[in-house]
Amino acid sequence: MNSDIMKVRILRALVCVLAIALVATLIIDKPKFDPSANDNASGSYTPGTYTAVANGFGGDVEVAITVGDNGGISSVEITGDKETPEVGGAAIPTLKDSILEKQSADIDGVSGATITSTAVKTAAAKALSEAGGSASAGGPSFNPGTYTGTAKGFGGDVEVTVTVSESTIDDIQVAGDNETENIGTFALSMMPDRILEAQTTDVDAVSGATVTSKAILLALQDALTQAGCDLSTLPVKPAKENATKTDKTLDTDIVIIGAGGAGMTAAINATEQGKDVILLEMMPYAGGNTTKATGGMNAAETHYQKEQGIDDSVETFIEDTMEGGHQMNNRDLVTEMAENSADAIDWLDSIGAPLPKVGFSGGATNARIHAPEDGSGVGAFLVTRFLNKVDELGINVMYDTKATELISDNGTIVGVKAESDEFNYTINAKAVILATGGFGNNQDMIVKYRSDLKGTVSTSAPGAMGDGIVMAEKVGADLVDIDQIQLHPTVEQGTSMLITESVRGDGAILVNQEGKRFTNELLTRDVVSAAELEQTGGYAYIIFDQRLRDGLKAIEKYVSTGITIQSDTIEGLAEQIDVDPKVLAETLETWNKAVADQNDAEFGRDTGMENDLSVAPYYAIKIAPGIHHTMGGVKIDTNCQVIDTDGSVIPGLYAAGEVTGGVHGGNRIGGNAVADIVVFGQVASDSAVEYCDK
Ligand code: ADP
Repeated sequence: MNSDIMKVRILRALVCVLAIALVATLIIDKPKFDPSANDNASGSYTPGTYTAVANGFGGDVEVAITVGDNGGISSVEITGDKETPEVGGAAIPTLKDSILEKQSADIDGVSGATITSTAVKTAAAKALSEAGGSASAGGPSFNPGTYTGTAKGFGGDVEVTVTVSESTIDDIQVAGDNETENIGTFALSMMPDRILEAQTTDVDAVSGATVTSKAILLALQDALTQAGCDLSTLPVKPAKENATKTDKTLDTDIVIIGAGGAGMTAAINATEQGKDVILLEMMPYAGGNTTKATGGMNAAETHYQKEQGIDDSVETFIEDTMEGGHQMNNRDLVTEMAENSADAIDWLDSIGAPLPKVGFSGGATNARIHAPEDGSGVGAFLVTRFLNKVDELGINVMYDTKATELISDNGTIVGVKAESDEFNYTINAKAVILATGGFGNNQDMIVKYRSDLKGTVSTSAPGAMGDGIVMAEKVGADLVDIDQIQLHPTVEQGTSMLITESVRGDGAILVNQEGKRFTNELLTRDVVSAAELEQTGGYAYIIFDQRLRDGLKAIEKYVSTGITIQSDTIEGLAEQIDVDPKVLAETLETWNKAVADQNDAEFGRDTGMENDLSVAPYYAIKIAPGIHHTMGGVKIDTNCQVIDTDGSVIPGLYAAGEVTGGVHGGNRIGGNAVADIVVFGQVASDSAVEYCDK
């Protein structure tokens, strides 16, 4: 081999070694992202850790971004425990790497995990915007046109149709027929304005209607993505500053705290008598627990009863209520309610809220429960009509304004302190009416008065926090029957959705995990609830068939919400709820025979036996007791004046509705909550008006 060939070979070998070394370096030292070497591409972020959340598939997705000393993103933490593990959950590590690699929120989504990707991008953009970056440099851009997106709301699909120009969201139409009236429907009407004003999907949900609000935002994200928008370029909600609130003083004749049934009745009645009224409501909408009332209003000797040939008397109404309440009720209050009930029905007629349909209801000797003509739920029906009247009369309703304290001048109540996001109010008034509802949603109060109910779900509206009781106690008010809390036996625990009594009334049965009936399903709420709690796991299944579904509008909501289990056979249903198919089939057979014979030998049930359960498909909903109504509360006399612990009237302070105690005793019978709020809402306002005139 000559020396030239040798040199060439050595050179080749050297090149080879160098090449291998270079490739090896590249492989071994693959430039995973090195934050310290990377300068922030889209402007210099301020060092620190920034956290933001956005709506994911199953709940909130949180992104925490740490910016190092050099202004680059040095670490990213993403938490999305509620994302589907094998889809959104699996995408999270990739999304995290992408943010680090691109040093930006403007990353590609992971295909198949669009919602989680969008949530991560949106939250990352928010976090980076707080870090002083320009995540949305230039703002969003859209392909002009109209686009429709959908997402699952509380009662089924929510559809959002958005019209966009090149850079602005111009119009939003929202449809969600199955959302809960006067709860979800408020979100449907309030969210579009919030979004249009902010020009982003990063807006607050309507409190108390978060499921519907989030569905609207997800559907909108879907539509905007179709419009070619990179969601991470949408504006970011400014962080709430702890702005100091401004003090504001207002003067009025009567302040009413709480815009539920009792509060709105009082406000309308006092305004109609010429008084200046301020109605405070802590939530962004009115209605409270009243919205949720389904049955109707008990009233005796009404013109509707007379027209329909129904014989009833005030005395029987009183005795039925006392009997239902285990004789614990304050008879004077019960008498006041029963004696004024027919006038209250007339008053409802006069404000455009007639309840002409009279029927039977549990615990009533005669047909006495008055409901809307069209069979709709009485609560939502009344709230809508009350709100119309409140608008017509121009009553000042201050939403998102929470009363915090009663102002006392030597024991006389002369006003209320309240607060909103912006203001600390002092509202001077001649009289104050508490209409704040119950405390079913305040776990601390529930545990304080009934530790055995710790952790029990509640069907109560979000504002049922017991504020009125606490405020009244602070000025010396006495409380009555405060430990008397009504459980409703058929509440779906995941959604707190109440399965109306009509389902059992129309023929459904309850079975335990062993597939057997265990009670007469139509005994009073307290008895059925107690029986359920004795079963394995403290729950039961309510079982019904297609014929029952066809005859009861309410069931559609349960089906669209996804809480029903359904099968073409009883055995198939049993398998899905993990009950022995043979046992469930036997239970149904025995029940159907009892219906045929009109004789329930097992549990002595004698109502709701018009139809058997024999038309497929069959349905089951898993239920357990839920807190439904807090029957105790502030002590009042028959003029709705609040009574203190010495038995004296607290001048200037009145109360009506669920905030009070004594009307229902140890058990409220169906139809008496609405009678309570309408009658005592009127009595309280009549008394307050009279007091103002003194
Ligand atoms: P009722 O049936 O007795 O009328 P509801 O539950 O229907 O009771 O209504 C009570 C209303 O009072 C709810 O809308 C609730 O949000 C409101 N509320 C409760 N506490 C406060 C408070 N501190 N300030 C203002 N509003 C309140």
